[in-house]
Amino acid sequence: MVEVHKVNGGGHSHEGNVYLIIDEVAVLIDAGRDAEASIENIEKYIDPKKIEFIILTHCHHDHTAGVPGLKEATGAKVLIGEGEVCDLGDDIATGSYLYEEDPAEFEVDGTLEEGDVINLGEWSFAVLQTPGHSPGSIALYEPKAKVLFSGDTILPHGNIGRTRRSGEMVKELVKSVERLAGLDVLVLYPGHMEPTDENVDEQMRTSLEFAKTIH
Ligand SMILES: [Zn+2]
Repeated sequence: MVEVHKVNGGGHSHEGNVYLIIDEVAVLIDAGRDAEASIENIEKYIDPKKIEFIILTHCHHDHTAGVPGLKEATGAKVLIGEGEVCDLGDDIATGSYLYEEDPAEFEVDGTLEEGDVINLGEWSFAVLQTPGHSPGSIALYEPKAKVLFSGDTILPHGNIGRTRRSGEMVKELVKSVERLAGLDVLVLYPGHMEPTDENVDEQMRTSLEFAKTIH
């Protein structure tokens, strides 16, 4: 039985969600900002050293500032979408300036792209490229369990993670939301807000309608 725990500390909206997945292989999805709080929560479920990968849905500061601390505590390898690597370390692209902080510095151990499969044992994630919220955002979909880790592309209750860019990126965002909204999803694990398993299809359809209103 695969376990998923939301392990980020604090409830404030400037903290991206951090998910601990314990399958045959244990991984984290995203790193939040406050590594110490996440580590404390992780230790309730597993020895942090057993975590093999930290998979980042995108480069934004509220999802990556915790990487150095989590990498040190776990020894895990860091994976991120190929199209996102160039924005790491950039205070505008990562949005770290919004927190009056420097972007996190860490080494990327591997990149992910459309069509990649991450096999954890019972679960096997398909990597979906979902540009828009950021140029190289990815989502992770598990087709057997019908579970989606959407990053900030789709958020619960008809929300989406807005793009700070315009023009083509807005079109890309609508396409990416449309793609995720078309998936068969029982449980949505978003980059912000709480995971949800209630009428997820309907929530995602609302996100798509909302996305289409952005110009
Ligand atoms: Zn974001």
